[in-house]
Amino acid sequence: MIDWLNYRDGTLFAEGVSLRAIAERFGTPTYVYSRSAIAGAFAEFASAAAGRKALICYALKANSNLAVIELLARAGAGFDIVSEGELQRVLAAGGDAGRVVFSGVGKGAGEIRAALRAGVRCFNVESRSELQRLSDIASALGRRAPISLRVNPDVDAGTHPYISTGLRENKFGIAHDEAVDVYRFAAALPGIEIAGIDCHIGSQITEIAPFLAALERLLELIRTLRDAGIRLSHLDLGGGLGISYDAEQPPERRAMLAAIFARIDEDPLARELEILFEFGRSIVGNAGLLLTRVEYLKHNGAKRFAIIDAAMNDLMRPALYDAFHRIVPVTPRNAPDVVYDVVGPVCESGDWIGRDRALAIAEGDLLAVLSAGAYGMAMSSNYNTRPRAAEVLVDGTEPIEIRTRETIESLYALERRLPR
Ligand SMILES: *Cc1c(COP(=O)(O)O)cnc(C)c1O
Repeated sequence: MIDWLNYRDGTLFAEGVSLRAIAERFGTPTYVYSRSAIAGAFAEFASAAAGRKALICYALKANSNLAVIELLARAGAGFDIVSEGELQRVLAAGGDAGRVVFSGVGKGAGEIRAALRAGVRCFNVESRSELQRLSDIASALGRRAPISLRVNPDVDAGTHPYISTGLRENKFGIAHDEAVDVYRFAAALPGIEIAGIDCHIGSQITEIAPFLAALERLLELIRTLRDAGIRLSHLDLGGGLGISYDAEQPPERRAMLAAIFARIDEDPLARELEILFEFGRSIVGNAGLLLTRVEYLKHNGAKRFAIIDAAMNDLMRPALYDAFHRIVPVTPRNAPDVVYDVVGPVCESGDWIGRDRALAIAEGDLLAVLSAGAYGMAMSSNYNTRPRAAEVLVDGTEPIEIRTRETIESLYALERRLPR
């Protein structure tokens, strides 16, 4: 299922590195990523866009480790950011601000100033007030801010409500039927330069149809805007392509892009535009796992629990979205399966990683929680004063520690005892 993982002599390897060896050397819980899987996923998008005016951006919020950013920057990715912090990460990793698009519904004045100074490629704007603020700040700096409007195409992405963003009633974007007015408003502002149009309809989308429906809505708008004398230079379709966590069968990366480009090629106006994407999950999601150790096996009434050393603070998706992650033993035992709820040590009943999992395990065994490369470490916290996990990038036979496990002292280093 995940091609960079394989069992050799009864134990699980990530590329050419034994997960047991990683656990011994770096401890647990530890996030483990495959360099070739990340590069390979990006390369599939890049090859589908080869020879076209297109930029594949990586949405940093999925996994913002500097090494991940750097490897994608070297592969030619652009970046989709949602904060000044993410901009600084791109720059710290050697990325180019000229390939950065700045998304987000609540950009602060300081963030806007920093992004203008750095020279980001485009601000994806979500409201009139943001346009006004952007124009004021850009004018004060003697510049014009390149913008695209994030239009809400009002299509149902068919995904979890928390990660569905393209419907009329959520906080994101500008309503489709107001977009032309807002573009006119933008065109009249002194500090604004209209560059494009964008949308992002949600995440973990497993069909091509919602993307094509959104594209259709944007093509209509592009025509209306042209008739109103407003010309665009790019069309940004956002991210959101799903991955297989369990039995989902999302479209192949190449097939998804091919379907979009086929539609674009039919449209003389769209053909002129540079096409941008902002993929996160589909680049890193299946390129990572969370390596954890079984602390205790416990029998409570009718239920059995496997208590592991990773918790909701390390991987929040199950608690937050009821998300499914496959869990496999690193060294499978020749014993009958027992059904467990796999839970962490955090003091919350929502602290579970997997429910009703059939596993043959003993205390002390290692487990791999799969498909954890996106929105795993990036959403982690220090709840219960738990140091964040280490991160290891496997490159062939070499494990590279790309983030050291946090120390406990560092967790309260910014805090102060009472003055008296
Ligand atoms: C989160 C986000 C993305 C990336 O979404 P994925 O589902 O990880 O591909 C892209 N664009 C915007 C505006 C986002 O908020």
